[in-house]
Amino acid sequence: MPAYTTAQIRNIALAGHAHAGKTTLVEALLFKLKLIGRAGTVEEGNTVSDYEPEEKAHKHSLFSSVVNFDHEGRHFNLFDTPGFPDFIGQTLSVLPAVETVAVVIGADRGIQTMTRRVLHIAAERRLPRMIIINKIDEHADTLPALVNALRETFGRECLPVNLPSGGGKDVVDLWEKSDGAVDFSSVSEGHQALVDQVVEVDEELMSKYLEQGSLTPEQLHDAFEHALRDGHIIPICFCSARTGAGLDDLLHIMANLCPSPLEGNPATFLLGEGAAAKEWHPEPDPSKPAVAHVFKVTTDQFVGKLGYVRVHQGTVTATSTLYLGDSKKPVRLGHIYKIHGKETKEIDAAIPGDIIALAKIDELHFNGVLHASHDHDTLRYKAFPMPRPMYGLAVEAKSRNDEGKIGGALAKLADEDPTFILDRVAATHETVIRGMGELHMRVALEKLHNRFKLDVNTKPPKVPYKETITAKADGHHRHKKQTGGAGQFGEVYLRVEPLPPDFVDPETGEHGFQFVSEVVGGTVPRQFWPAVEKGVRQVLLEGAVAGYPMTGVRVALYDGKYHEVDSKEVAFVTAGRKAFVDAVHKARPTLLEPIVHLEVTAPASCLGDITADLSSKRGQVQNTDYLPGDMIVLHAMVPLAEMTNYSSQLKSMTGGQGSYVMDYSHDDRTPPNVQAEIIAAYKPKAEEE
Ligand code: GDP
Repeated sequence: MPAYTTAQIRNIALAGHAHAGKTTLVEALLFKLKLIGRAGTVEEGNTVSDYEPEEKAHKHSLFSSVVNFDHEGRHFNLFDTPGFPDFIGQTLSVLPAVETVAVVIGADRGIQTMTRRVLHIAAERRLPRMIIINKIDEHADTLPALVNALRETFGRECLPVNLPSGGGKDVVDLWEKSDGAVDFSSVSEGHQALVDQVVEVDEELMSKYLEQGSLTPEQLHDAFEHALRDGHIIPICFCSARTGAGLDDLLHIMANLCPSPLEGNPATFLLGEGAAAKEWHPEPDPSKPAVAHVFKVTTDQFVGKLGYVRVHQGTVTATSTLYLGDSKKPVRLGHIYKIHGKETKEIDAAIPGDIIALAKIDELHFNGVLHASHDHDTLRYKAFPMPRPMYGLAVEAKSRNDEGKIGGALAKLADEDPTFILDRVAATHETVIRGMGELHMRVALEKLHNRFKLDVNTKPPKVPYKETITAKADGHHRHKKQTGGAGQFGEVYLRVEPLPPDFVDPETGEHGFQFVSEVVGGTVPRQFWPAVEKGVRQVLLEGAVAGYPMTGVRVALYDGKYHEVDSKEVAFVTAGRKAFVDAVHKARPTLLEPIVHLEVTAPASCLGDITADLSSKRGQVQNTDYLPGDMIVLHAMVPLAEMTNYSSQLKSMTGGQGSYVMDYSHDDRTPPNVQAEIIAAYKPKAEEE
């Protein structure tokens, strides 16, 4: 059993924008705790957290990693997460494993895209948040304005728990102390502001405070945890990962103010089937049946497949047999490990709150739930939506010999990254990989090369248009074929009509499609209805007018004819398919294109250029907010087809200072000129009779 209890565990994710100093901070903390002899640097590629070959090559965190250490009687699991918006999937996937999100801000750059996104997402997930302002050694003069900007942007609940002193050479704690010399504001003012904010969550404590005029940190502890859980306080602390200033206090704050797994907001699972599922919260009790959640899957060069798991309930040992989801086949764990950077250390048992790795269990998958009791067969982690990756690249193997291997290797990468999708687009016959942006895709291809020795040629993918109809129409086909002995016969009449954009079939749960039979009197016998539907579905996948999948269509089979001997399934499949194509052509077909929601962060001086460029791309700007530091954040809707080179275009418009994220929003009709071009370019496959 571990040498610590659940109450002593602190699981914290360092997140925030790239360059804030997260990796350097982890390194500095390990050095401070004498766990490494020398602090590595990102530039030299020798840090504990950035160990993957791609990270060393790019000199940036691209994947999440975790280190563990003991300090002040606590056991810490500290995650380093990547700060580029392209890798937000890596950051989001570790959030279910922690109680606290600590957003690191570089004092030189202030509030950036990922600062805002992570603070916002953590709030949505009800995760306690704290803010670490790093680099106070070089940028002490910017700090008062940064604190004001944080309070303006994220609310008055952002309050310093320490303040820099000696021009950024040290910090003075405000929580336990109420005097001392600091660089700005004052210790007594800061202390008072913290206590005033915290007591607001507890009326009884508030009365005591009003009576006595002061409270001890011990008296305030529970109210502080409560305020953190409710997002009523977002502590700000200062440090320099480079000089070590503030690191002692940071560790002290993390040890004493960040919640343990007993104090944080518990993870939310769903228990039960479909709509009947109810929210379920694990109890961090080591004697209950085990429940653990897989939040990351990776492949280690030596160990093979490695699943990163957070234990939420019960005790997991090397000899445990657990079930994965609703599988009846038990999984024998065999070995369990603690993870520290790239190192794994075998342990014998893990308790609620522990972060462990399991090796060589092929069935493990991202978001999987391992559990000890069949009562939990239907248990699922209540996953928060991941941003839908919209940046695509069509890929094909460079060497013919590798063609067969590419799909499997890409599928493995997709397995490890919730924002990386492998898509075989039937309409365009392309293998498309989709991710969050150019850098994300570049790193994925480097991984493909480094890990699987596979190389691909890439080009922009064809846009995934969809076909739909805008009117009601009838379709008919009579399929008759006589080859030698047995013949084929089937005749179908059907009607198509448009469905509303958000239609879900109540029977099947399918989006945007419904098939019904209104045949009376057995003109098409019941046993052939599925064949007609099969034919219709072939067109649904392959399209009727431009080779793209169809959506938003209701099909009613209402009449037909059959032949006692010659009517076979295959005849009705063909008749269904052709009758459907016939109907679609008459139903004023149109093409839909994906529209993305775009968020651009850039210097305010570039606003004119950015909006002019977006309007030339058929984009619609929805709103623009001015951010502290002369920056803007702009939201717009833009057709995906226009976004192919946006990374480099935005870079040149903003001198490299702009960044963007895009996310699927909805489908919309393509303008007639675009549509005409696409339909004209479509050459349907010759129909075999
Ligand atoms: P990350 O992307 O958030 O992980 O940031 P890194 O740890 O890669 O740091 C980005 C850059 O900031 C590197 O060049 C670091 O050396 C530098 N840096 C990190 N912490 C500090 C600090 O406290 N002071 C100063 N002056 N530079 C720092």
